[in-house]
Amino acid sequence: MRCPFCGNPETQVKDSRPSEDGAAIRRRRSCSECGGRFTTFERVQLRELIIVKRSGRRTPFDREKLERSISLATRKRQIDPERIDRMVSGIVRQLESLGETEIGSEVVGELIMKALRSLDSVAYVRYASVYRDFQETSDFAKFLGAEGFDSDGIDVPLTPAPAGNPDPKDPSPIRQGLGEQDLSATDDA
Ligand SMILES: [Zn+2]
Repeated sequence: MRCPFCGNPETQVKDSRPSEDGAAIRRRRSCSECGGRFTTFERVQLRELIIVKRSGRRTPFDREKLERSISLATRKRQIDPERIDRMVSGIVRQLESLGETEIGSEVVGELIMKALRSLDSVAYVRYASVYRDFQETSDFAKFLGAEGFDSDGIDVPLTPAPAGNPDPKDPSPIRQGLGEQDLSATDDA
């Protein structure tokens, strides 16, 4: 595998072991040119998946994109990274098990919501607040109530920015960070 730092095509595997309950092989690699170290994962891919966005645009499913949006939602939540990895693998396995090659982005979004809900309530609300794209503060409050959350103590802004017009003064780095992302292949970017 090519070194991601210097482009050297020859890197050595230093360590190889099972990860994510045996669902993946984790390899530590190092580059003899620049000394850079990085990790690769080998996973089973049962089928190629295409995500169909709300705009109708089709894009290959990207596990890393899914991981990024989940890691943004779980930022600073002190959740074991292995648990997050397993959760991501679980979502991918569920997508693969649907038996469809083309999957609507909303299906991915709902699976993420469901998984986050059982993982961490704050991460769940963070993700939901962006994914659901609440137009009104009252909609968000209603959502929290319906989900059995008290908005006190949940560190997400209670005044979501209007769609298409993100408030640059929004004090929440979480929301800004999520807003800049292509949310787990769920939006229409
Ligand atoms: Zn290198």
